[in-house]
Amino acid sequence: MSEQPARVCGHWIGSEHRYCRTTDGVRHYLPGYRCPAHTPRALRGLAEIPPGPGLPAGAWTTVSPLNESRVHGALAIVSGKRRASQAGRRAALTVVASRGEWL
Ligand SMILES: [Zn+2]
Repeated sequence: MSEQPARVCGHWIGSEHRYCRTTDGVRHYLPGYRCPAHTPRALRGLAEIPPGPGLPAGAWTTVSPLNESRVHGALAIVSGKRRASQAGRRAALTVVASRGEWL
């Protein structure tokens, strides 16, 4: 075992009394490194699962507490509860107006 290079198919071919030891296309699976012919699904006669599309585009559009606090800060500036510079007040007005919460 220790003399094997890292990425070698470790499937035991019982009928030939040897390990596969193929190095082409070897990937790590739960039982260890396996070539495409000896993946857990291939051994059960199943097709490999195709790679998925990844995360959906809107996966991170949840309103974060940071954004919420910015909006509440803008409301406070517009209502006069919180001080801000002239530019900050203008930005707050834009934010509040775009959300339609003030008018
Ligand atoms: Zn193999």
